[in-house]
Parts: sequence; structure tokens; C-alpha cells
Amino acid sequence: MKKEKLNQITVTNPYLTLPPLCYDKVNPTPLKNPFLIHANNNVADEIGLESSELTSDEFVIFVNGDFKLQGSEPFAMCYAGHQFGYFVERLGDGRAINIGTIGKLHLQLKGAGLTLYSRSGDGRAVLRSSIREYLMSEAIHGLNIPTSRALALIGSTQKVIREDWERGAIVLRVAPSWIRFGTFEYFAHNDKPKELKALLDFAIEESYPHLKGEEYHHFFSEVVGRTARLMAHWQSVGFNHGVMNTDNMSIAGITIDYGPFAFLDDYDIRYICNHTDRRGRYSFGNQPSIGEWNLQALMVALMGVIPKEQMEKSLARYKRLYSEHYLYLMGEKFGLDGVNDEDFELIKSGLLTLQMLQVDYTLFFRTLSRYDGDRKAILDLGLYHQPMSEWLDIYDERLKKNSMTTQTRITKMLSINPKFVLKNYMIQEAIDKAKLGDFELVDVLFKIAQNPYDEHEAYERYAMATPAQFKNQKLSCSS
Ligand code: AMP
Ligand code: MG
Repeated sequence: MKKEKLNQITVTNPYLTLPPLCYDKVNPTPLKNPFLIHANNNVADEIGLESSELTSDEFVIFVNGDFKLQGSEPFAMCYAGHQFGYFVERLGDGRAINIGTIGKLHLQLKGAGLTLYSRSGDGRAVLRSSIREYLMSEAIHGLNIPTSRALALIGSTQKVIREDWERGAIVLRVAPSWIRFGTFEYFAHNDKPKELKALLDFAIEESYPHLKGEEYHHFFSEVVGRTARLMAHWQSVGFNHGVMNTDNMSIAGITIDYGPFAFLDDYDIRYICNHTDRRGRYSFGNQPSIGEWNLQALMVALMGVIPKEQMEKSLARYKRLYSEHYLYLMGEKFGLDGVNDEDFELIKSGLLTLQMLQVDYTLFFRTLSRYDGDRKAILDLGLYHQPMSEWLDIYDERLKKNSMTTQTRITKMLSINPKFVLKNYMIQEAIDKAKLGDFELVDVLFKIAQNPYDEHEAYERYAMATPAQFKNQKLSCSS
């Protein structure tokens, strides 16, 4: 793609071709005294922006919503959603403003002020949650999992009230689609078949162009498939999203809306990262079934335009699709050359062993990646040795049947099992420093996030088990 300066770029606004009920045109409200914290060269590349522009004063003004790209007609999107199982009939971008589309990516400013859908909110995002979203979306991308990403993060001196006074920030985030399950729910609930159908055609064009002209039920079937795959990805890397409300579920099957997320520390299927989720609806282990629950809500919303029986058939395939993909990914993590029924037992008992011995999930797989018969490093990860030793007996037997040489397996596993995931205590360190005006750790974590399989020797401590005092913490939803 040809590289251009900011003032040479022209954007389009395809979403505005939808009926007016779908959006509200609104200009961003800039923050006071904005300054650049970080910019993403790779995303700049993807949208054809010259990298030298990222350090210019104009760029900060642009991310602050104070400079419109040619063609830009800013707007917020309207949606509804099931929050913690209860339907909320009107949500929408309360603090996100879309500023245009370049190629396949839609640019959006998060924290850029009030919109028609702000309800009682202030339209702002605080520095802490903006750093979290900025870093984690890149980390999820670095792990080859579909996600929104971010072009830039700016801070400001503007005060924003949460539990305490904090500073306002803006993330310029990008995604191939910002349409949510809840976007469909909004038009179904309000009995707007024209809008619903227009949205459906739009979503197909945007995220499933190969289905144009096909019957609509194929669309639902593919959303089921992509959601199942996404859940399998999250489970395989130990990612807990934390707020899987239907308004945070992407119709394109990508990870969006980063809130109180966490990577697992010690493997624990019951882990709940979201402090307000008392009953664990969105616990780590519940994610795959919540994915299915959300698809069910989507199915209800689409019933006016797609025959229910056909959607039910697609939904009935969800569990199998999820399991197949999860087992495939886990087989790779364990260094197996294919997964059969016996391997399923091996994987299950491996995970149970981790849970019982309170072993760090990421560290386990990285250590196993170097396994050549010498058990010490693996046994030392757990509280005591025996259960892991027994599991390794079964694993050794399985490895004998593997078609790969040990060296090939080790090389492959090291390219699949990350050395680093961004755990919350690491991001918190970066936030604490950022609050004092030091953004170096944001940059360090960003680089680690982009290359999680590399060694990064200087940051060995981040590859170790999470320090005991920071393990399995919960995060508040406030952001
Ligand atoms: P979330 O849980 O962050 O996905 O947000 C749920 C809904 O609340 C979405 O419609 C958001 O746009 C809205 N929202 C969250 N925080 C704010 C805020 N500070 N100002 C306005 N709307 C907000
Ligand atoms: Mg959201």
C-alpha cells in the first residue's frame, strides 16, 4: 500500500449507507493537553500512513479528534445487548466515535466524548484502562488470535472521575467490523425489519463477502463457526475476557471491548477476572458455553429474517466445532502430531494436574516445549511431584508414537507456546509508572506483546510464574 501523510489520506464511511436509526453523527470532544504515549507502526503500515507522521504534532491532534481526515463523517453506532443475562434495550457507542474506514479497517476513537448513547456516562476513558486495551489487543494479535487493534494511545491532563480522579486518555482502535450481536438485537427488539435486513446485508459485505447472494442461514452458520473458533483460541491461551455481554461479542468473530480481562496465572478453570461477576457467569471455564448462549440470543434476534430451524441446526454444531478446534489447538500446545480420543484423555488429565498442583499455565507449556526426557524443570513447577510425574509417564508413552523427532517437536512447540503473556500485574506496573509520566514500560510490554514467542532475555522475570501476591486477582469493571 502506498504510504501517505495524514492530510493526504481519504477515508470512507460505509456504515452511513445504513438507515439513519443505525447511528448518530457526532463529532469527538477533544481532551485537554493531549500528548502521545504510544503509536503502532504496524497498524500505521496497514492503513497506509507514513510512519514519520506518528511523531508529528498533527498526529496527536488527529488522535484527539481535533483533526478530521478527508472524507470523515464521525458517528456513533447504536446497539442493545444482554448484560449478565439481562436484556438492555439501548446501549450503543457511549464513548466511542467512528472516524472513517481505510481499506478493510474501521477507525474508532475510544474516550472521545459524549454521544447520543452515553446514557449516564461521561464519554471518557481513563489512562489505566486505555493502556490495558492498547497493550492487550496487540498481545492477542501477537498470539495470532483475531482481534481489534490500536493505532495509537494518547494521554491528557483532563480530569475524569471514577472511584477517584483520574486522567482521560483516548485509544484510536481499528477493526474489520465493530458490529456486535447486540446491534442485531437492537433492531429486532424495536421491530425494525428494514434496518435488521440492511444490517445483515452490511455485515455480510463487511465480514463474510463470500456469502453474498447466498441464503442468509449460511451467515448465521459461519458466525457460529467463528465464535466457536474464537472461544477455542481464548481457552487455549488462557485468556479470560471478563464481560462477554452480547454487546461485546463481535459478529466477525474477533476479540473486542477489552475490560477487566486477564490471562490465567496458575491454571484454574474457575477463575473469574471480573470483580463484579460474583457468580462467575464469565469465569474462564464458562466462556465456551457463554459463547453458545450469546449465539442463541443472536439467533432470536435474527428470527425475523432467517428460518429458525436452519439456525437451530447451525447452533447444534457449536459444541462439536468448539471441541474440535480446541483439541486441535491443545494438541499443538502439547506437541502432538494429531489428536485422537486417547489424546483427549491425555490433555484432560494434563490440565487437571495443572489445576491440582497450581501450576502457571503459560510457564508450564513453555517448559514442556523444551522437554527431552529430563523431568526436573517440569516437576519443579508444581507444589509436589507425584501427580505430574504420573502424567509424564503417560505423556512419554504418547511421545513414542509421535512422528516428529524430539528436536522438531521442541522447535514447533516453542513457536506455539508463548514465553510471555501480558499478565495483569505486568500491565499494572506499566500503569503505575505511566501515572508518574514514565511510559517506558508501556513500550517494553508492547514489544513483548508483539513477539511473545521470542526470548527477550532482559525480561526473564516476566516469563516466570506470577508473584504470589499478584496471583488470580480480580479487576473492577470501571474504566
Ligand atoms: P462496556 O462494558 O465497556 O462494554 O460498556 C457497556 C456500555 O456502556 C456501552 O454501551 C458503552 O459505550 C457504555 N459506556 C461505558 N463507559 C462509558 C462512559 N464512560 N461514558 C459513556 N458510555 C459508557
Ligand atoms: Mg462494550
